Amino acid sequence: MDKKRKPYQLVSREWKSEDTIVKLKHGHIGSGHFSVIAGPCAIENEDQIFTICEFLSKLNIKLLRGGAYKPRTSPYSFQGLKKEGLMLMRQAADKYNMDVVTEVMDTNLVDEVAQYADVLQVGTRNMQNYQLLRALSKINKPVLLKRGMSSTLEEWLLAAEYILSGGNDQVILCERGIRTFETATRNTLDLSIVPLVKSLSHLPIIVDPSQGTGIRELIAPMSLAAMAAGADGLMLEVHNHPEEALSDGAQSLYFDQFKDLIYRLQEAGTFFGKTLDFNTEKILI
Ligand code: PEP
Ligand code: MN
Repeated sequence: MDKKRKPYQLVSREWKSEDTIVKLKHGHIGSGHFSVIAGPCAIENEDQIFTICEFLSKLNIKLLRGGAYKPRTSPYSFQGLKKEGLMLMRQAADKYNMDVVTEVMDTNLVDEVAQYADVLQVGTRNMQNYQLLRALSKINKPVLLKRGMSSTLEEWLLAAEYILSGGNDQVILCERGIRTFETATRNTLDLSIVPLVKSLSHLPIIVDPSQGTGIRELIAPMSLAAMAAGADGLMLEVHNHPEEALSDGAQSLYFDQFKDLIYRLQEAGTFFGKTLDFNTEKILI
């Protein structure tokens, strides 16, 4: 390979100069549009997911997140409701006209998750699971590719290249923090990667300040900073009872905090020239 050429090609700006826009049933991600994907870390029960989904729909949020298959550091932690979680999430999203974003942890689950999800998420622990990336390159649905917690920009873009090279060009990158010497935050949210990715790749990039910081109070400032850095959107964890959440309660926003953040993003969006899903004039609460 020509030494001057980047090791990745299909994801590069040289290959395609115009921004990729990922199309969804209820909107799109990328190119001047600012999307918010929100929901609980994990789907826990029917009441929880429907309550959160209804709340989000009143704020005009179009993308519902939630884990049904959860990659947990400890085997003793809640592992997710699995297929039941997928079904509950699908029902809630359909009722409130939203798209579903959820993680697929294993190659043998791709078909099942694709049956219920609109966007399939690859978690940080799986960014270099090349079998999984190849399987996702063959599906006809967008893939949200989280950055590996110890991965370089080049490794991340090469992981995306696996998906594009297999035939699926609907990829959204997600910066979710990397592991550094700092232990005061759960991860170190690398916002400087956002404008760098934008210059090197045509793919949309969003930011997840929930996994990125692990601390509820840091979510709003880092969300606004992500918009300022040029991100195409956010992935946010929100819960109706964060203190009782079965996973990631400490980084889950309360409803009031989430609503306040949406209003602030709306204001900031007019300054940064971003069109938003959530038009505060239409907000019902
Ligand atoms: C999540 O989104 O809940 C999650 C587990 O993300 P990550 O893979 O970034 O840790
Ligand atoms: Mn989480």
